[in-house]
Amino acid sequence: MKPAIISCAITGNKTTREMNPNLPLTPLEQGIAAEQAVLAGASIIHLHVREDDGTESHRLERFEESVYEITKRVPEAILEVSTRGAAEDSMVYRGNCLDLRTEMCSLNIGTLNIGDEVFLNPPSEVFPLIEKIYASGSIPELDCFDIGHLEQAKSLLQRGILRGPLHFLFVLGIPGGVSGDIRNLLHFLAMMPPDAHWSAVGIGKHQLPVAVHTLLLGGNIRVGLEDAVWYRKGELARSNAQLVTRVAEMSRELGRPVATPDEARKLLGISKRQPVFSQPVFKRPSRSVLTRRRMSHASSA
Ligand code: ZN
Repeated sequence: MKPAIISCAITGNKTTREMNPNLPLTPLEQGIAAEQAVLAGASIIHLHVREDDGTESHRLERFEESVYEITKRVPEAILEVSTRGAAEDSMVYRGNCLDLRTEMCSLNIGTLNIGDEVFLNPPSEVFPLIEKIYASGSIPELDCFDIGHLEQAKSLLQRGILRGPLHFLFVLGIPGGVSGDIRNLLHFLAMMPPDAHWSAVGIGKHQLPVAVHTLLLGGNIRVGLEDAVWYRKGELARSNAQLVTRVAEMSRELGRPVATPDEARKLLGISKRQPVFSQPVFKRPSRSVLTRRRMSHASSA
């Protein structure tokens, strides 16, 4: 069985400290959370950033602070910055994070009602964003909240606006999108281009069932406090790492080794590179924490 790639969505754009006091919000907290998640088995860190008061931010400087805090601890991690934003955020503002030239980014190509809000992604603004993504060398992961998003991606691939092989994230359980019913996941898989890469996430109480089915179906998984603040009913998650640890152990039990970041790059067709910082204050990241651990194990053996 091929290795499972675990992505960890450590913060999100909506989750609050009131929902879970263990949510990492500041760049330093995000750096520590990312390090713990990678040590627990995550290869990819999916990243939103917040201002000090907790509000969602797309300021490049804020992204730089967080990416710096993460890469100095775990430079081996694959970073996926989020281009998702609120209705009032322009696509140019949402694309600020691409200047960091991280290896991956998230991309939403379809408009959707999420709860009582409109998640607006008009083609006239999404297409220039896609151009900026490819110019930055980042690989877009296409968030599919609905089957129509998958169909739009296939159409954009045919028109040459998106480039294959596509990388999909199937999101189950967002109000307004497909529900957490596993039949929705099977439908996504049936309609996906055969050479596409795919990952899935269940929101809230769907996190664990979607992860288990995805592991059995050969996909990659995403977990994290962005998607679910609970470990199980009535028990808040202590950390992102706790959520990663659970699915990493399950993956191994089910016969799928957990991919290291470099194995994940090979599987996803990503060339390794470090983020580019505009501010000189952010120096080169230090040595990998995994390498440090391996060396300390070797010296104590
Ligand atoms: Zn996100």
